[in-house]
Amino acid sequence: MKRIGVLTSGGDAPGMNAAIRAVVRCGIDNGMEVYGIRRGYEGLLDGEIEKMERSDVGDILHRGGTILQTARSERFQKKEGQKRAATVLETFGIEGLVVIGGDGSTRGGLDLSRQGIKVMCVPGTIDNDVAYSDFTIGFDTAVNTVLDAVSKIRDTSSAHERTVVIEVMGRHCGDIALYAGLAGGAECALLPEEPFDVNEICRRILEGTNRGKLHSIVINAEGSGIATDKLVKEIEAKTGRETRPVILSYLQRGGTPTMRDRLLATRTAAKAVELLRDDEDSKAIGEIGGQILAFDLEAALKVERDFDREMYDLIGVLAK
Ligand code: ATP
Repeated sequence: MKRIGVLTSGGDAPGMNAAIRAVVRCGIDNGMEVYGIRRGYEGLLDGEIEKMERSDVGDILHRGGTILQTARSERFQKKEGQKRAATVLETFGIEGLVVIGGDGSTRGGLDLSRQGIKVMCVPGTIDNDVAYSDFTIGFDTAVNTVLDAVSKIRDTSSAHERTVVIEVMGRHCGDIALYAGLAGGAECALLPEEPFDVNEICRRILEGTNRGKLHSIVINAEGSGIATDKLVKEIEAKTGRETRPVILSYLQRGGTPTMRDRLLATRTAAKAVELLRDDEDSKAIGEIGGQILAFDLEAALKVERDFDREMYDLIGVLAK
């Protein structure tokens, strides 16, 4: 394979730049020309494609966001869009593509592979919502950003003896809430994967207060099924304690990627280039037990994600 492309798609995630850098430099090192595609599948449809050199990816390793920018594309979801995307790639002589994005982007990659393009998918999303990798690029940084916020909120929450409900991202996946809840010492984390009982949350808060605890932190995943404002009102009414919402929103997407995210991005992207060089069929690449592995794209998307109940239960044990 002589000419490959790279794009970032869906929500941006810290570490996407590290992945782009690795694709460009490993690709060139393997004697290939590497083309950067702007604004994900949307930019691909518009032919926003440019050749990249080693120096084009200099000084981006430590930056959040994505120098190629990203987008969500409705046009690409339709069959005509996918056919057009393949035609655009053929016009540029691009035979293989590295897609850096989450679950949706990987599904898009599978559709494109059915149009005769070799597609290697690298898991770039803060949500940690793919089954074929223990972690996704950006997740570790996002959780650390949440933890930084939790520590700061604890200070002020203690000073005022307030309960604070912190809403975190993750779409339909509760991992940001789960990991931040356990590592941040929350009273509880509300997740899409597990039904919750507001009475139980209030009991934990009051039990903590009774033994002299000054701060109470509840983490609410955006996909938990209960709006943060509603939860705040219910907790305040039932506990009689002042309760406030904090919605971290896009703060969680930015910032310099952690060592874990940089390594995951660099290693999965390097693997993607290696597979394209060897003319392998389309794959989803992930990290399982510390190993970088490649899985058949269609099969990888059928695997159900496991929810870590042990971690979830531990939050409750430690909050007692
Ligand atoms: P994040 O989890 O960070 O939001 P994502 O990759 O899951 O990232 P999506 O918005 O789901 O984000 O997907 C990005 C783009 O991929 C969509 O806008 C669309 O163009 C394409 N895409 C998503 N799902 C599909 C699908 N089932 N078939 C074809 N293309 C898809």
